[in-house]
Amino acid sequence: MKRKPTRRIQVGTVAIGGGAPVSVQSMTNTDTKDIASTVRQVLALKDAGCDLIRCAINDEMDAKAIFSIKEKGGLPLIADIQFDHRLALLALENGCDCLRINPGNIGGEEKVRAIVKLAKETDTPIRVGVNSGSLHQSMIDRYGGVNPMSLAESALLQVRQLEEMGFTQIKVAIKSSRVMDTIHACRLFSQKSDYPLHLGITEAGPPSTGRIKSAVGIGTLLAEGIGDTIRVSLTADPVEEVRAGVEILKACGLRKEGLELISCPTCARTKIDLLSIVKEAEQQLQNKKVNATVAIMGCAVNGPGEAREADIGIAGGKGEGLLFKKGKILRKVPEDQLLDALLQEIAQMERNTNEPDKCS
Ligand code: SF4
Repeated sequence: MKRKPTRRIQVGTVAIGGGAPVSVQSMTNTDTKDIASTVRQVLALKDAGCDLIRCAINDEMDAKAIFSIKEKGGLPLIADIQFDHRLALLALENGCDCLRINPGNIGGEEKVRAIVKLAKETDTPIRVGVNSGSLHQSMIDRYGGVNPMSLAESALLQVRQLEEMGFTQIKVAIKSSRVMDTIHACRLFSQKSDYPLHLGITEAGPPSTGRIKSAVGIGTLLAEGIGDTIRVSLTADPVEEVRAGVEILKACGLRKEGLELISCPTCARTKIDLLSIVKEAEQQLQNKKVNATVAIMGCAVNGPGEAREADIGIAGGKGEGLLFKKGKILRKVPEDQLLDALLQEIAQMERNTNEPDKCS
């Protein structure tokens, strides 16, 4: 898939845009200044595949916690600022890797200028952008409502404001809770600007519906080559956001590392309790550090054939099943030992992956 060329910015150790891998980000929901809790969450997010984290900076203590969170959590940190330009300055002084501001709510041009000046001096990028809930009334009036035109033009206006101050280390987010508005607005922006885009569907809701909205919105844009970093917004543990984001990248062929689980939908040929086996496998295989496709199939008639591409898998029979590897049958296993046999093989693959090369 050809990606739309964008400018590259650097958020700590992670490059965004300009052909860099599309990154996954999430936002912590601990009290930022509670460093132990925040770091614990950052580490869990990192383990799930998160590349960048965003933390709300609500007061001075939050800003002063940035350095420790970065040092102990090991991920670049985006400081999320609302209204108070002094907190933006403090976040920059405390080593945030990117600032997220809305220049329209920061209290006037002089305050934005002060932030931009320090961001330049510290070589820190700024994320600007709009979401459907906070669009300026003048834009709503000019374009006849909250729609893709008003969203895209509002983002372009924010970009121009920073450019006029001589600042170009920008990434842009345009989000609506309406999936099609987000898609059209990002397309419009992308036609007119080459700044990297942060994709997401805002307020996407609980996981059951939020994952689907996000997959459609983010996935459609990524499939068109648009988008440089993503966040799935869910009313859930942020780890769920990261898992969903990673799966979207995998489905778009933009992230290859990690384990992929494929399983059949079951039918009248299924004679084992496949639903329970897949549910348990999904749980057990979370965060496995092995690059492999794992197949869990309901029957031996089509199972190994349908999963020929898989690295390892099982196919159910009556009271037993087959364990197979790279399309070849390894052995028959009783049904109650089938999942364990599969997990043991995967654990061995993981050990082989992580074992240091004895020849070197
Ligand atoms: Fe049915 Fe077998 Fe296909 Fe599963 S793999 S859906 S059990 S035919």
